[in-house]
Amino acid sequence: MRFRAGVRTDVGRLRERNEDAYLIRDPVFAVADGMGGHRGGDVASALALESLDAPEGSDEDSNSDPFAGLLAGIKEANRRVLERGESDAALKGMGTTLTAVLAEDDRAHVAHVGDSRAYLLRGGMLQQLTEDHTLVQRMVREGRLKPDEAETHPQRSILTRALGIDDDLEVDQLTLDVHPGDRLLICSDGLTSMVSRERIQEILLSEPDQQLAADRLVEVAIDAGGDDNVTVIVLDVLDEGDGPSSGEHATVVSTSSSDGRPARTGSLPASAQAARTVGPAEGAGRRKRRRRAGRIAMWTGILVAVVVASLVGLRLYVDRQWYVGDNAGRVAIYNGIPAGVLGFELHHVQETTDLDTAEALRLGPWRALRDGITVNSLSEAEGVVEQIRRDILGQEAPPPTEPSPSPSPTASPSA
Ligand code: MG
Repeated sequence: MRFRAGVRTDVGRLRERNEDAYLIRDPVFAVADGMGGHRGGDVASALALESLDAPEGSDEDSNSDPFAGLLAGIKEANRRVLERGESDAALKGMGTTLTAVLAEDDRAHVAHVGDSRAYLLRGGMLQQLTEDHTLVQRMVREGRLKPDEAETHPQRSILTRALGIDDDLEVDQLTLDVHPGDRLLICSDGLTSMVSRERIQEILLSEPDQQLAADRLVEVAIDAGGDDNVTVIVLDVLDEGDGPSSGEHATVVSTSSSDGRPARTGSLPASAQAARTVGPAEGAGRRKRRRRAGRIAMWTGILVAVVVASLVGLRLYVDRQWYVGDNAGRVAIYNGIPAGVLGFELHHVQETTDLDTAEALRLGPWRALRDGITVNSLSEAEGVVEQIRRDILGQEAPPPTEPSPSPSPTASPSA
């Protein structure tokens, strides 16, 4: 069996940097979606894939059992991202998702952490092979949220598992038999949060060329708003006789620097930069100065009106915002946003709970508490508090083991 890949990544419309990365080095195909302030996201995703590409001291593993070699590479990548985040203050708290497919004869092995996804298109049907490691997915599994509510939930990007967070990383594993005609899709959430599963299936069915299919999926995600970085690998399973596989012996690790799209900047348009102030001509005299004074008064009035309207708008906006954060060592619900303007805080404490912030911070998913977890309403904030409470209690009791992702009908989950 041969595998041939098409790949495309794009920064999207809203983000300044592309924190997604991909690796194509037959037989390994992977997507990573980094997160973390400053340059943390870029560094985490690129570092993880570089570690996979050139693992240290794993030759023995990878020669006898390639999948064991890949899993060892992922553990190594986790260790390197964690170590780098701890040693460099600017990268503290960075992490990354990782979804990798290892092609081996007539099987495909999938290793997965985070909310990037792998899908299988077979017999005209698209099935998701991985389960998102997110807070909302956990709520769906516990029956507290419907699957379609999870798709649009404001907290859908809070991860419960990622590389670079904890020494002890659990990796979901899946092995499936593949046949010529099967098509695998590996993608970051920049695709799945913008484009419905039905539309993705339709595009994969209608575009036989894997590169054109990858291009089309990314274009559709951008047309739908392009809120996030988007990365897509389309991997076709071919007969031996179907020509060369792609990416053999070739390594491509893409980050923001090589996606071909410049970062957006805040520079002035050329017309504004070119504008010049020309002094009044000799003899034009007082009339021109009076007109100018009138114009300044008018613009000042407009400016004051705009500022007042903005402040009123900001007040109305802030009053409708909620977040969960820390208040003197306790988890608290705030009304407002976790920020201030000109020394004025744009929030106040609604309720301080009896939950210890330090205990919550020790749980990977709740590290965002430091900066405040924004939610849509008071009741959502209360829901987050309840989940933190359950997680803290769960830490004290022996933790329940998470079920592995539901495999496809022909898939055989590995041990
Ligand atoms: Mg993303």
